[in-house]
Amino acid sequence: KLLLGSICVAFIALRWSAPSFNKESLKGARVLVTGASTGIGEQLAYHYARLGAQLVITARRENVLKQVVSKCLEMGAQRALFIPADMASASDAESVVQYAIEQLGGLDYLVLNHIGPSPYRMWDGDVEHTRWLLEVNFLSYAQMTQKALPTLEKSNGSIVVVSSLLGKICGPFALPYAATKFALNGFFGGLQHELAMQKSNVSITICTLGLIDTDSAMEKIKGYINMTAYPAQEAAWNIIEAGASRQSETFYPWYTFYACLFRDWFPYFRDQAIQNSYTYNPQVDK
Ligand code: NDP
Repeated sequence: KLLLGSICVAFIALRWSAPSFNKESLKGARVLVTGASTGIGEQLAYHYARLGAQLVITARRENVLKQVVSKCLEMGAQRALFIPADMASASDAESVVQYAIEQLGGLDYLVLNHIGPSPYRMWDGDVEHTRWLLEVNFLSYAQMTQKALPTLEKSNGSIVVVSSLLGKICGPFALPYAATKFALNGFFGGLQHELAMQKSNVSITICTLGLIDTDSAMEKIKGYINMTAYPAQEAAWNIIEAGASRQSETFYPWYTFYACLFRDWFPYFRDQAIQNSYTYNPQVDK
C-alpha cells in the first residue's frame, strides 16, 4: 500500500510540478505562429496578442489571416503581420521565417502548429498523400527550425512544436497524420538532446494534445468516436505557458499524460481499449 501510495504521489507531483510563467515576459516578445488562420493556431495568436506580443502569423488563406491580424491588433498586440504561405513548399517555409526575422528584428518564439488536411478513414494505400503530408506537417517544421535557429540562439529563444497523442500512441483512421506526428516527436526529441549537449540557449517544447474542439477535428471524428473534446482556447493557453516556461514537454488535456505514462504497461488491454472506442462496421464503412 505504501509503495502504491508513493507511486500515486509521484505521478501527481510529476503532472503538477510545471514551472510557473511570467506573463510580462511575453510583452513585446517576437513570435511567429504557423497555421494561425483557424483552430488552435488562431487561439494562440489571440492569447499572444492579449499578452502584448509582436506577431507574425501564417497559413495559406490571405483573407482569413487578414481578419485574424486585425483582431490581434484590437486585442493588444504590439504588432501583428501576416504572410500567406504553403508549407508544402520548402521555399515558402524558409521565406516565412526570413520575413518574420526581418519584420520583427529577430525572433523569440517559433510556434510550429500547422497541419495539412488529411482524410480520417481506413488507409486507402495512397502513398503520395503520405509523402505530401510529411512535407507539410514535418519537413517544413525542420526547414523552419534550421532557418530560425541562429536567430533564436542570439535571443535565448524557444521553439514550440504542436504535436499529438497520435504521435505517441498508435490509433486507426489517421495513419499518414500519425506518421508525421511520430516523425516530429523523434526529430524534435532528438534535437532537444543535441541542443542540450551543445549548451545551446534555445529551448524546445513538444506539446502532446488530445482531442480539441476545433472545427476541422470535430468534422473528422464525427461518426467514428464519441469522446470529450477540450477547448481550443485552453489548449492554446497551455501551449503558450509551457513554451514561455521552457518546459521540454507539455500534455493537454490531463489524460494524455497518463496515457503516455501507462502506454506500454498492458499492451493487450491498451489495444482492445483503442479498437473498441471507435465505431466501425467493416460491412458498411470503408
Ligand atoms: P486546423 O485544421 O484547425 O488548422 C490548421 C491550420 O494549418 C490552418 O490555419 C490552415 O490554414 C493551416 N494549413 C493547412 N494546410 C496548410 C499548408 N499546406 N500550408 C500552410 N498552412 C496550412 O488544425 P487544429 O487547430 O485542429 O490543429 C492545430 C495543431 O494541433 C496541429 O498541429 C494538430 O496536429 C494539433 N492537434 C490537434 C488536435 C485536435 O483535436 N484539434 C489533437 C491533437 C493535436 P489554411 O487552410 O488557411 O492554410
